[in-house]
Amino acid sequence: MIKTDVLIIGAGPSGLFCAHQLKLIGLNCEVVDNLDKIGGQCIELYPDKPIYDIPAIPECTGEELTNNLINQLKPFDIKFHLNERVDEVKKSDDSWEVKTNKGTSFNTPNIIIAGGVGSFEPRKFSPKECEKFENKSLFYSIKNKSIFKGKTVSIFGGGDSALDWAIELSNNSNVNLIHRRDEFRGAQVSIDKIQELTKNKKINLFTKYQLKNAHGTENLESIDIIHDEGEKKNLKTDYVLGFFGLIMQLGPIVNWELNLNKKTIEVDTEKFQTNQKGIYAIGDICSYPGKLKLILSGFHEGALAARACFKLARPNEKYRFEFTTTSTNLKKRLGVKE
Ligand SMILES: Cc1cc2nc3c(=O)[nH]c(=O)nc-3n(C[C@H](O)[C@H](O)[C@H](O)COP(=O)(O)OP(=O)(O)OC[C@H]3O[C@@H](n4cnc5c(N)ncnc54)[C@H](O)[C@@H]3O)c2cc1C
Repeated sequence: MIKTDVLIIGAGPSGLFCAHQLKLIGLNCEVVDNLDKIGGQCIELYPDKPIYDIPAIPECTGEELTNNLINQLKPFDIKFHLNERVDEVKKSDDSWEVKTNKGTSFNTPNIIIAGGVGSFEPRKFSPKECEKFENKSLFYSIKNKSIFKGKTVSIFGGGDSALDWAIELSNNSNVNLIHRRDEFRGAQVSIDKIQELTKNKKINLFTKYQLKNAHGTENLESIDIIHDEGEKKNLKTDYVLGFFGLIMQLGPIVNWELNLNKKTIEVDTEKFQTNQKGIYAIGDICSYPGKLKLILSGFHEGALAARACFKLARPNEKYRFEFTTTSTNLKKRLGVKE
């Protein structure tokens, strides 16, 4: 059980800046995110797109903003738990017990939900049999491409991820690219490359096919794919990859007895506290009269929620407001030499 002053759920811009504010005022925090990387929507949905309305930054991409927020956290030691979804939040005396889907547990007086539009989850294959192979021989994202070397890999999907991975893996693997339409959604240059590789027999292309079934005892051995006009049975494969995009869902947050309003959590505007003492919500996931779903709002909300956490984390101390420009104390925490 990890004990911390504050647990932040969500490593998007709101969660990241809030972590900075917490460490600045001397509180510990840990951050959990379901994604395999830090940055929330900015990194997952628009890393290359320029943003023009971050105060004092005339223009930066989603990725640059994320990198700057991570750099701003450099003076501090903050533990990130990526690839973990917070599933359970339970009251335990004066604090909260929190559990992730990977079994990590936290005990904390304060939880800050910076969950954006909910956790990003991959859209999955519908045949039930697929579940037993998940994360063993069936994946929705790639962590270590070396496992596919010399193997047969069946890639499903018609967007950039499916095309890019089919091209990349065709160097060292036998690749089946399977898509339910005969048109692809990816970049034209990738579509042209797929056609060239198919012509040169480096990729086996199956269009208008979908996965019908997966077979194997421990590991995947073969799949059946189905077409309007027929079926291909027992197509030998060692791995299956599905790239159907992400869905965003509030997920387990709906079970935490919070007041919800159209997929957002109602908060007050003094502390950004929910109807549960010690649970706050900031960023896109919170709602209050006049809420603007902009990154700058999440920064402000995080700064106030962080101060509110102080009272429960340090009941015998008084929080003192200080400026970073002039406070020796804050500069010390930031590692600034005077
Ligand atoms: C295409 C596009 C362009 C945009 N352009 C702008 C712009 O120009 N200016 C602007 O201000 N805003 C813009 N936005 C909006 C901006 O991206 C959001 O306001 C911002 O990302 C919200 O940040 P957040 O930290 O609240 O949530 P998010 O960025 O959504 O991050 C939330 C994180 O929480 C995680 N999470 C959720 N539930 C759980 C759980 N149970 N367990 C673990 N992790 C969980 C998610 O995986 C996610 O990583 C744009 C959005 C999009 C989609």
